[in-house]
Amino acid sequence: MTSEKKAENASIQGYESHCNCDHCGRPLKIGIQLSGYGVIGADCLNAAIVPNRNTWRAGKPTADWLRTLAKLKQRDSAEQLARMGYHPSHFVLEVYAQKLVA
Ligand SMILES: [Zn+2]
Repeated sequence: MTSEKKAENASIQGYESHCNCDHCGRPLKIGIQLSGYGVIGADCLNAAIVPNRNTWRAGKPTADWLRTLAKLKQRDSAEQLARMGYHPSHFVLEVYAQKLVA
């Protein structure tokens, strides 16, 4: 079997409201701006995340948490985020790239 999946890092850069998912075209209230992949719905993004039980107890974050990260990133400066305990690495996700390409 050669079904190798390629994992890549992508970072959450903010969000866009009332847009369409660049992956599936679905209308979104909140779309997550993801480096290199455009605007992605939280559910599509979550489906593409590489499971990691060291980072998330359930292996993956929730779609709600991804939207929360996107809002934080949009709203606050790096300094403000650092004061709240969020560092740039918190906004970097390991994703299966081909699951995010339309
Ligand atoms: Zn989608």
